[in-house]
Amino acid sequence: MEPKKTEAIILRTRDLGESDLLVTFFSSLYGNLKGVAKGARRSSKRFANSLSTFSLVDLQSRERRSGDLVLLESCELLDGFPGIRSDYNLLLRASYMVEMTETLFPSNVPSFEMFQLLRFALEAISKRQNVDESMISFQARAMKIGGFGINLSRCSRCGRQYKGEGRALFHPPSGSIVCLACEKESVMTPGMGPDTVSALHRVQSSERPLSNRLECSDNAVSELKAVLTSHIEHCLGKKLKSAKYLHPIRFQ
Ligand SMILES: [Zn+2]
Repeated sequence: MEPKKTEAIILRTRDLGESDLLVTFFSSLYGNLKGVAKGARRSSKRFANSLSTFSLVDLQSRERRSGDLVLLESCELLDGFPGIRSDYNLLLRASYMVEMTETLFPSNVPSFEMFQLLRFALEAISKRQNVDESMISFQARAMKIGGFGINLSRCSRCGRQYKGEGRALFHPPSGSIVCLACEKESVMTPGMGPDTVSALHRVQSSERPLSNRLECSDNAVSELKAVLTSHIEHCLGKKLKSAKYLHPIRFQ
């Protein structure tokens, strides 16, 4: 079979047998794949320190005759995002991004857009560029790419169009906004001002280039956090394992 060549981000590695590594990666062309790197734990020129979690690599693999695992033939490091490895808080955030990517895009569901987003976000936090806003942008855009964008155009109860004025509430079961005439603002239905709705609209829009700036007030950033946390918990069924480590830590 022909070898596959693709850029990929290493999501996880695990020891396999005496000397091999089982590598899970998200590739630009084929999405989430698992592969075996033979002899990678002995010194191996083919993999020269490139198989670390979060690394961006150029890899060549070959399908095996049976099973889902591919055979990794070579791997070249493009960017190890060293900033992430030197800071525990960043490591937690990167782990969250990786877990969310895997949850939204399980095996063999390719998404070049998701690959680009993950690469962009890892690079941003590795360089400490607006870490908090990078996380929010990643969450909102990833949900949208995964088919879970929040409907911001009209109230899911009465159908009234949102015209960009006044507060709107987020209603997790419908993944949509609802108006104040239909629902009361509460922890279950967090509110958003017009500034927040408009920031969320921008970040969800796939026509806009990726950005780690939300261009909104601190209050809107807080509202976005509440809305996205509740949206992600609702859609992904369970709180992501790594999510619980994010909140107690304040990033300086
Ligand atoms: Zn309504």
